[in-house]
This record gives sequence, structure tokens and C-alpha cells, in this order.
Amino acid sequence: MAENILAQFAKALTGGTVRVVDLTQPLEPATPVIQLPEQFGKSWPFRLEEISRYDQRGPAWYWNNFACGEHTGTHFDAPVHWVTGKDYPNNATDTIPAEKFIAPACVIDVSHQASNDPDFLLTREHVEQWEREHGRIEAGSWVLMRTDWSKRRDPQAFLNIGQDGAHVPGPHPELVPFLAKERDIIGWGSEGVGTDAGQAFRFDPPFPCHSIMHGSNKFGLASLTNLDQLPPQGALLITPPLKIVSGSGSPCRVLALVSSA
Ligand code: MN
Repeated sequence: MAENILAQFAKALTGGTVRVVDLTQPLEPATPVIQLPEQFGKSWPFRLEEISRYDQRGPAWYWNNFACGEHTGTHFDAPVHWVTGKDYPNNATDTIPAEKFIAPACVIDVSHQASNDPDFLLTREHVEQWEREHGRIEAGSWVLMRTDWSKRRDPQAFLNIGQDGAHVPGPHPELVPFLAKERDIIGWGSEGVGTDAGQAFRFDPPFPCHSIMHGSNKFGLASLTNLDQLPPQGALLITPPLKIVSGSGSPCRVLALVSSA
């Protein structure tokens, strides 16, 4: 009798024909947090407070309290995050069906373009060129934009904020409805601090990756790293946010399964 698919998968993991790539940034006080203009509310940076460490506060145990905004570090954006997605059923971290947290990924490598232009925008033409080489983006796939932006280890260079706002690559406003509606993707992932480009507050509509993606009941992943270790297509992403009741998002340990067979 043929082995069931999960037994085969377990063997592939232990045998090394399926690799696990961690797409998550370290979460620590230095983790960059999105900066909004003065008039808006502030997201907390990550904070860690020791409760005890094998000492008089707890002789045999080590543990911490932590605090942070939902959208800190590598994180998941739920549809309820944006006003356009607020009325969908099951649109928050606790109610999104769990099977949505495992999905294939298409990785579009524009690291060369982004290295020369911090305001680089991925267009529909770029995506159609990718599809000619790698096949049509299947419904229910993540689209991840590889820019190598996560290699900017200095938080200032990573946020890249100037007098006129942030300068970080992202999707072109005309690409977002194409991916959401004509390709029916599950969500969009970026290496920057958020899913939208740094200058997206100037776009029409503003913040299209939030407005249109979440307005189409789609998800987001931000502050991804190690996208250079993924194939253009064929990786499987595991993206469960914390089950925060009515949460708009959550820090997330994003893993990719990659077959080397
Ligand atoms: Mn977010």
C-alpha cells in the first residue's frame, strides 16, 4: 500500500528533500516599526521585560513579558486591518479559516531594479513577464516581491525616511487590482516595513496594497526576509498569525517549504 501523503512528507523533511526556509526577521527592541505622521496613533515597538531567570524571582525558570504593536517585525495583515475590509465575515486573526495559513508562493525577483531605485514599483508588465517565464499565477497563491531590501540591517536605512516620506519599493497601484481580481491571489508579501511602497500615501487610491487587497478580503505579509532562498514558484508558505481575538494582524513566524527533489 502506498504511504499516505503526510508520511511521505515527514520523510522528505527528515531526508532533506524538503527544506524549511525561515522568512522571519528577528523580533527585538531594535526591530524597525512603521512611522506615521504626527497626528496619527503610534504602534509600540517590541519590548521585553524579564520576569525571572533562575533567580529569587523564579529559582528554576526563565520567562519574559513582551509588548508590541500587532504590526511589528515580520507580520501578517488581516482584511479587518483596513476600512475597506472591515465588513467581511471571518476577517480577523482569530476567525480567518486556518487552512488559509498554508498556501503556495510566487516570488518575483526585482532585487536588481530595487538596488538602483528605492522607489521602484512592481508593475503589471513585470508580472506578465514573470508569468511568461514561470507560468500563470494560480488563484490562492501568495505573490512575494523580492527586493533584497531586508539586507538593509541598519533600521534607518531600512525605513529610509526622508523629508518627503519613506522611500521603499512596493507594488504599483495598477498592479494591485490585477493581482486581487484577475489572479485572485491570497495576498501580497514585501520585504519592507509594510506591504505598500514608501510613497504610497501619494497614490490613487492611497495605500493601494492595503485599500484594494484588504478590500478584496486578501492578506498581507510585511518585513519578510530570505526571499533570495526561494524558487520563483513551487514554495509552500506557512503563515499563522497569533489567534488574537478581533486582531488586525500579528507578528508571525513565516516559514517556506521548498522541495529540492
Ligand atoms: Mn501591517
